[in-house]
Amino acid sequence: MPPVGIHYKKSLQTTGKEYKEVHDWLDNDPSKKAERHDITKIYEYGKEIEEKYGKEALQQYIEHIHDDVKAKFKHIEEDMHKAISDTLQYFGIKRD
Ligand SMILES: [Zn+2]
Repeated sequence: MPPVGIHYKKSLQTTGKEYKEVHDWLDNDPSKKAERHDITKIYEYGKEIEEKYGKEALQQYIEHIHDDVKAKFKHIEEDMHKAISDTLQYFGIKRD
């Protein structure tokens, strides 16, 4: 998943603010990181973030999770393609 600084930068580009408090809350506590990225909790956490920091912060919270999901699946896809390619090569089916 992108480092937290990438999230600051993206928020800055789209809103003019880094929304560090939102991104740090999501990423910087290893014991709560998975729970805070749980998409089944978006409504509950989103409400809290909106009440505390406003509607734009809520959107940045959702964007953060969106970007993490996208990055994670891109990585999984790359690993899967490499595993398929290595396996085909191992059995002599593909030779490049
Ligand atoms: Zn994250």
